[in-house]
Amino acid sequence: MTDFRNFKLVGYVVFGRGCFSQLDGILAARRQGEAPVVFLVDHFFRDKPAFLSRIPARGRDRVLFADVTHEPTTALVDGLRDQVRSECGQVSGVVGIGGGSTMDLAKAVSLMLTNPGSSAEYQGWDLVKRPGVYKVAVPTLSGTGAEVSRTAVLIGPTKKLGLNSDFTPFDQIVLDPDLVAGVPAEQRFYTGMDCYIHCIESLQGSFLNAFSRSYGEKALELCRQVFLEKGGWDGDSDERLMMASYAGGMSIAYSQVGVAHAVSYGLGYMLKIHHGIGNCIVFDQLEEFYPEGVRDFHRMLEKHRIQLPRGVTRGLDAAQVERMLDVSLGMAPLWQNALGPDWQRKMTRERLRALFARL
Ligand code: NAD
Ligand code: ZN
Repeated sequence: MTDFRNFKLVGYVVFGRGCFSQLDGILAARRQGEAPVVFLVDHFFRDKPAFLSRIPARGRDRVLFADVTHEPTTALVDGLRDQVRSECGQVSGVVGIGGGSTMDLAKAVSLMLTNPGSSAEYQGWDLVKRPGVYKVAVPTLSGTGAEVSRTAVLIGPTKKLGLNSDFTPFDQIVLDPDLVAGVPAEQRFYTGMDCYIHCIESLQGSFLNAFSRSYGEKALELCRQVFLEKGGWDGDSDERLMMASYAGGMSIAYSQVGVAHAVSYGLGYMLKIHHGIGNCIVFDQLEEFYPEGVRDFHRMLEKHRIQLPRGVTRGLDAAQVERMLDVSLGMAPLWQNALGPDWQRKMTRERLRALFARL
């Protein structure tokens, strides 16, 4: 008999322009006595007083800024966990306000406040054994789906891999399209394309079922509307892309991503290239795997006048290339979804090395 996955979803969702103002009330019901709430805020907002004044910090609550110049590491998570423990003691919860990096940090810090050791020990599937502290996400970029996923992607000492577990999804997410209104066009494109690529990889993967197809098709339609069909960018586009991110994340919850992500993880690990841009650099070269999706992607690049970096792997020495191949080939479920159970025959080390050389 087939063993269908029984997966954990986000607890509560609030969506709507300005709904960030409801966060205070939402947290009030979750506060445990004097135990503070920790707000982990993307450092982009450090010099945005108007936004900072809206964060509902009370009493002993702490606002910590997350430096996401580079993608989150296990060392950063462990350091934040130690800081929160020593400065706050018991906490009522962790609220991540920012893009995918900050949301993943918030998930991981929440989990590491209750699970012993280093977060590096939990990179993998279902290694986390205890629920974290109450955790909330407020996305300020749309596309990663980190707001709904069961993983917190971290760069560790030996790999870039998420803490994938039933304890990882947020207890609450606050989806306020007003918060993504001022994102610069290039960042919006790269993070938005993460969603687009999630959809293509999910819809063309072998793990696809009606559940993930339903969400994936809707998210793909929304991505096409905002990046190809609509004339300009407006508030309606912000709403659509925020829901695309959510639906794209739901689609891969019951399927998996594919070739672009497996290769991009290698790039991210070795070259510290951010996920969204890394995916775009890779996807650009994947016509043989995703012909239609890549064709539309090229139209989107042109329409939004995005110049992708080229020749990014050129400076790597042979040992670094081998390490990058190891990280990428280590993403077995992604390859299996993309190429089927005999993926190792189809994606040989040589073929992947040639693909990396083209990036
Ligand atoms: P990001 O969080 O890395 O942020 C990118 C840049 O945008 C940063 O400089 C940040 O300061 C800035 N920024 C954030 N909000 C902004 C705003 N409102 N206006 C202007 N700038 C803003 O970018 P991302 O693409 O959202 O996330 C990428 C990360 O998400 C990677 O670490 C990746 O591994 C992770 N990810 C996680 C999942 C998951 O399911 N957990 C899925 C995909 C990607
Ligand atoms: Zn992604």
